[in-house]
Amino acid sequence: MISQDVVLVRYGEIALKDRWTRQSWERILAANIAFDLKRAGLEHRISRSEGRIFIHTTDPRATQIAARVFGVVSASPAQTVAPELDQISGAAAEIASFIRPSSFAIRPRRSGGKISSEEIGRAVGDAVRLSTGSTVNLDHPDLEIFIEARGDAAYIFTDITRGPGGLPLGSQQKMLTLISGGIDSPVAAWMMMKRGCPAVLLHFDSRPFADSVRQCLRSAEVLSQWSSGRKIDFIQVPISRGIEKIAAHHPRATCVLCRRLMYRIASEVVKIQGAMGIVTGYSLGQVASQTPENIMAEQAGMDAPIYHPLIAMDKAEIIEIARRIGTYEVTEETKSCTAVPRKPITRAKLDQVLAWEDELGLREMALSLAQEMSITRI
Ligand code: ATP
Ligand code: MG
Repeated sequence: MISQDVVLVRYGEIALKDRWTRQSWERILAANIAFDLKRAGLEHRISRSEGRIFIHTTDPRATQIAARVFGVVSASPAQTVAPELDQISGAAAEIASFIRPSSFAIRPRRSGGKISSEEIGRAVGDAVRLSTGSTVNLDHPDLEIFIEARGDAAYIFTDITRGPGGLPLGSQQKMLTLISGGIDSPVAAWMMMKRGCPAVLLHFDSRPFADSVRQCLRSAEVLSQWSSGRKIDFIQVPISRGIEKIAAHHPRATCVLCRRLMYRIASEVVKIQGAMGIVTGYSLGQVASQTPENIMAEQAGMDAPIYHPLIAMDKAEIIEIARRIGTYEVTEETKSCTAVPRKPITRAKLDQVLAWEDELGLREMALSLAQEMSITRI
């Protein structure tokens, strides 16, 4: 077994950035990791060097905590030894004797230091073979022993826990996700968080036509656990008055017009919140309304950019992510809104839709409904 004194944290795309961006994003990443460790009450110290973050701690929980931070590609609990062949071999042999694998592989990697990775592989391989009697199998080993040799220290580890990858939360601007209480929209918010954007959530309260405030609140709580200490603003805006008016005049276009009303209100909230765009849980063709024609008619002429991070994903892929991130359990397949007409338009004509929008005064209505927003910090 590894007697862990450090956790090696690897990150991906940050390493490709120019020096200034890299340093600033590394700082954000390290601060996010530190926050989550501190929240768990975990004693530690963090250092950074040559494309790695080091968490100095013996607490076994540190790896799992780091592996939930956006920007982290993987994390490994490791044992530090002096960068000398005999020290590395001794420690590796001890770990292998404890595990007693039937076969093993040494995976050496050098960055700086005098010893080559071939030398490390050979010497450590011999030591492990002698002490355990097991054989080398480079393709399907029972145990992999990784060695990272640097100028001032060498690190030995056997486990690599994958993180979410992406960019550190806070390296990009805030995004406003429209959240409906269903499975998709919390995943959309999470995907944008994974690209570095802190989340703000907006729910249109459409009672009595539909009611999913409770599921939204619970998803907000789960997302907040991914937020490395940033509070999430959960915003509610009542929209039923708008739905009633639309349904009374242009019933077949209720969904398209309601959606334009939502985007108009959301564009106001984006301004108020200092966010940079609107995010939805749309997935092309998932339901009859999520067609390219409708998307075009719904979005034409909006002020804020609208992102659909799930647009090309299958339901099964979305559900898999929802399970992994913990939002699946708190949402339900949203009960369909009772304002949806029996025969909704699936091929909305833009000119017609814009004319109806003007006729019903939906722009003005959006401005006044946006004033009715209420915020809960989660
Ligand atoms: P979800 O995507 O959350 O599973 P859904 O599949 O029922 O909901 P639709 O009702 O077609 O999807 O809505 C598509 C997207 O529109 C949602 O992903 C969400 O971003 C947004 N949306 C729908 N209803 C609301 C609402 N009441 N408040 C805020 N956003 C909503
Ligand atoms: Mg959906």
